[in-house]
Parts: sequence; structure tokens; C-alpha cells
Amino acid sequence: MSERCDRTDLLVEQCAHCRNLVSPEEEAARQRSALVASGKWLRAVHKGKCARCGEWFGEGSAITRRPSGWISDCCADAVGDE
Ligand SMILES: [Zn+2]
Ligand SMILES: [Zn+2]
Repeated sequence: MSERCDRTDLLVEQCAHCRNLVSPEEEAARQRSALVASGKWLRAVHKGKCARCGEWFGEGSAITRRPSGWISDCCADAVGDE
């Protein structure tokens, strides 16, 4: 009997998540989608600079408005649900 993943319901040996085959890019894309789905973040239409850390973000990044300016998903963990 093979075990199934409790997240994807695939057999563990077929599950990218269990086998750690999800690339950092895929993980970042997933995080962005989750942020946008929350309704508190928007998709960036233009590239810009994160107001918190100064990193450039590209089109399609998740961004959220703060008094200091637009903050990108690079700082999602830091700004949280503020
Ligand atoms: Zn899994
Ligand atoms: Zn940032």
C-alpha cells in the first residue's frame, strides 16, 4: 500500500510537493496567487520598487498598498495582514 499526500491526494511517489520537486519559482508563483486570491493584494501591471525593502518587482508580482507605497510579495511575510 502506497501512502497518499494529504495536500495533493496523489501517491507520494507521484507528488511533486512530497518529493520536493516544486521549484522556488513555482512556490513563489503559488504564494502570489494565494495573496491575490485573498483580495488584499493586486497583480502589478507595471514593474516597480518595493517600498519596504527596495527590491524591484516585475509585472505580475503581487503588490499591496501601504502609506509608504506599494509593497511587493518579497515582503509578504513581513507585512502579513497588517
Ligand atoms: Zn505531497
Ligand atoms: Zn520587499
